[in-house]
Amino acid sequence: MPEPTLPSPTSPKSHYSKHIILTTYPGQSGIDPVPLEWGAADAKSRGPVIVSRSNNLVKRRNAIGAHGGSYSIYNALAVAAGELDADFRPDLRNSQPTFDFPWQQAWGDKSKIVSMDPFGHDIVNQYKEELEAGWDIRPTMAVTRANMKLAEIAEAVRDGQLEVDGSIVVDSSGEVRVTKVAVEPVWYLPGVAERFGVDEGTLRRTLFEHTGGSYPELITRPDLKVFLPPIGGLTVYIFGPPERVSDEKVKLALRIHDECNGSDVFQSDICTCRPYLAFGIREAIREAQNGGSGVVIYFRKEGRALGEVIKYLVYNARKRGGDTADKYFTRTENIAGVRDMRFQALMPDILHWLGVKKIDKMLSMSNMKHDAIVDSGIKILERIPIPDEMIPSDSRVEIDAKINAGYFTTGKQITMDDLAAVRGRGWEKWEDVEH
Ligand SMILES: [Zn+2]
Repeated sequence: MPEPTLPSPTSPKSHYSKHIILTTYPGQSGIDPVPLEWGAADAKSRGPVIVSRSNNLVKRRNAIGAHGGSYSIYNALAVAAGELDADFRPDLRNSQPTFDFPWQQAWGDKSKIVSMDPFGHDIVNQYKEELEAGWDIRPTMAVTRANMKLAEIAEAVRDGQLEVDGSIVVDSSGEVRVTKVAVEPVWYLPGVAERFGVDEGTLRRTLFEHTGGSYPELITRPDLKVFLPPIGGLTVYIFGPPERVSDEKVKLALRIHDECNGSDVFQSDICTCRPYLAFGIREAIREAQNGGSGVVIYFRKEGRALGEVIKYLVYNARKRGGDTADKYFTRTENIAGVRDMRFQALMPDILHWLGVKKIDKMLSMSNMKHDAIVDSGIKILERIPIPDEMIPSDSRVEIDAKINAGYFTTGKQITMDDLAAVRGRGWEKWEDVEH
């Protein structure tokens, strides 16, 4: 087999020389990372996160990876296509948060926050001089506000389950006001390793090997402790005044929701995701209307972080193998090797960032979420399962399998014999149709 040759940039649009910096090493000439002290109490003493590879900054970088999470690839495409200048600097005028979240002790605690930059929302303010001097420092968080409309919320208003208060639920059409926080992942590698009970070297080596060797500095630059991984982030939806989220004197209703596009957006009835999301939003609004606070946090972890391709393969295996609840998790394990890759260990970071000390109403049945939150030092006072009438009939397979596996329920415990009798809809109705 011929040796692959390295393609040289031949496009007239390319701005690259033939010399490629494959990686860097500590002690190499000019390597001088801008100091970054994760866990420092304020942004100035912590230092900005810099991943830029532009010519004048590549040797001063103090983090591995690229901005934008999974969108970093589109960013690279835009540069390749000549649509985006490689040395582009954003003009961040007027982009500042619509609400100034109060500083929390956890922002300066490197054991409490390891998967996001606690100062990532306030870059323009905190690093004004550095930005003016031409440093490429970018926000990894953004805070905005919006109005939203959900069919289930409109229905709840119509049925009198939710009131129109003019401030949270704005009108009888069910329009709701919300504060939103978008967060891109920024990992402090020693802290992430600790959460998963592995040593940092093993984590770095595994991230390097299993991304096709995409980030060689994970191996060559042990002095760089921060990595911006190419994965999805999260969005916080806050109902009611955002200052109430960290106020221990008022009640907090909270749902942690992991993405399920097929159900959340397209309302597939094979699982309970959208109904539980809608229930979470409704209860969050209700709590805010009662003088408390309501928060829904949406994590981009499609299909238990296995992705939609794996998810659909599992659906097929379930439907062809007799879709019973007792085999629900085995089908996933057969195809993915594990039943779940969401690993909730990093999830509580955002709660600590928000200043949450206790959750009065946890709108989730997941023990993994519950245990991760409680183990991180936040109390959960009450757990509220999805009401039975909101569960689509074909999704009983999923929900009963989860209850059997130890998900929280206030109803009856379910045995393996019960599970064998819980069967999902087959494809008969589809397959009878002449195509
Ligand atoms: Zn789902």
